[in-house]
Amino acid sequence: MTESDRYDVIVIGGGPAGSATATFIAQGGRSVALLERERFPRFRIGESLMPATYWSLERLGVLGKMRCSHFPHKRSVQFFSKSGRAAVPFYFSETEPGPSSQTWQVDRGEFDQMLLENARAQGVDVCQEARVTDVLFDGERARAVAVAVRVRFNDGSERELGSRVVVDASGQSAFLARRLKLKQGDPNLMQSSFFTRYRGAWRGGGIDEGATLILYTAEPRTWFWYIPLPDDIVSVGVVGPLDRLVKGRDGTPQQVFDQEVAKCSAVHERIQGSEQIQDVRVLKDFSYSSRRIAGNGWVLVGDAFGFLDPIYSSGVFLALKGGEFAADSILAALRQNDLSAATLGRHGEQFLAGVEAFRKLVYAYYSEDFNFAGFLRRFPERKDDLVNLLIGNVYTKDVTGLLESMDEFCQLPEYQPFRIEEPLPGTVKD
Ligand SMILES: Cc1cc2nc3c(=O)[nH]c(=O)nc-3n(C[C@H](O)[C@H](O)[C@H](O)COP(=O)(O)OP(=O)(O)OC[C@H]3O[C@@H](n4cnc5c(N)ncnc54)[C@H](O)[C@@H]3O)c2cc1C
Repeated sequence: MTESDRYDVIVIGGGPAGSATATFIAQGGRSVALLERERFPRFRIGESLMPATYWSLERLGVLGKMRCSHFPHKRSVQFFSKSGRAAVPFYFSETEPGPSSQTWQVDRGEFDQMLLENARAQGVDVCQEARVTDVLFDGERARAVAVAVRVRFNDGSERELGSRVVVDASGQSAFLARRLKLKQGDPNLMQSSFFTRYRGAWRGGGIDEGATLILYTAEPRTWFWYIPLPDDIVSVGVVGPLDRLVKGRDGTPQQVFDQEVAKCSAVHERIQGSEQIQDVRVLKDFSYSSRRIAGNGWVLVGDAFGFLDPIYSSGVFLALKGGEFAADSILAALRQNDLSAATLGRHGEQFLAGVEAFRKLVYAYYSEDFNFAGFLRRFPERKDDLVNLLIGNVYTKDVTGLLESMDEFCQLPEYQPFRIEEPLPGTVKD
């Protein structure tokens, strides 16, 4: 390995978490390489942004590009009950007036490519078609960690690159968390999803042109998303228990999807007469978290740290915000020349608290006795808190009062917060 192969930071994965972390590190004046196994643009599900991504997008320097893009403007979320009744939409600007109350519905192929190109423009060494196959730790002392990653390129060649810190942003592959056996699943959120896209399906107009619709179906713990995208395309997906949608279910993914659509008249009538333009894809979307967010010389961000049920569209927000938290901890650790788990992961508790606020609301949504209209009839004073959560203001607003009222309104006996374990001092893999 030559000196030119050494970086302050190497990031594995070029999704929103990886691009954001790498860009913030480069903005802090440190050398950083990002290794992405695919060639962009590549397909990703996860198209609806939360308004609070505004602040990360601003810090990344891409707000101008977003404003000039063809992505539909999202200003609200609207929920539909089991019986198909539409609740009044939650308009973000009623709680948060100003530019940050509007966000976008994105094609992730384009959006992720834009973030990756922005990273490169800001000084990140971006390498695509470069799969990290191993992470090699060297040295037992927390303050002198050296890490190398082994990379296999699509042309068949292999190389080792060295760095002081490795950031795992490999998404649900969770490269390091799997290797170090850090993943903890959530047995109450073993969901799966079937999704596709339509051209020419129903779209709202005016202020509702880019609204996300969340439609509960007659089946327990099962709901559809309906997300308008550019070029008259709509993303439609159903999320439900793995046991019911996948296990012991006959039929192709298309047949399962069609059967679920038939049970949700509000979706069925909206896609009538439109053209389905993608095969139905299937994903397990089990929620999980890692027992550690950092070790000596490494940090986890985005889905590589944890994944939460997609009902509130929190994934990209947590990927970008987690990238900010991680980059700030890493820059401080490099300044102090202290690459210990404690210093690299000092944002862990604060970050996880925000994730847990969303997770509690996910539990509420799936509990038998919850519905938004009923909750707000009983606790009208909590409306702004609720909208703040839907906006993603979990790090800037105190939403504990909302979560307490939620506890009072519906029983969430299975809810157990995830925790980050204290690092054991001294060993590299801690
Ligand atoms: C059904 C479903 C619906 C969702 N809907 C929404 C939504 O509406 N809104 C929302 O905000 N979120 C949504 N999400 C969540 C969102 O998709 C993720 O949270 C988000 O993509 C996480 O970003 P990331 O950068 O951590 O990971 P990713 O976007 O997955 O990026 C990880 C990258 O790492 C690369 N990689 C993996 N392994 C390696 C390796 N060994 N070497 C090099 N590169 C590697 C991959 O190729 C990939 O490009 C949804 C998720 C699901 C499953």
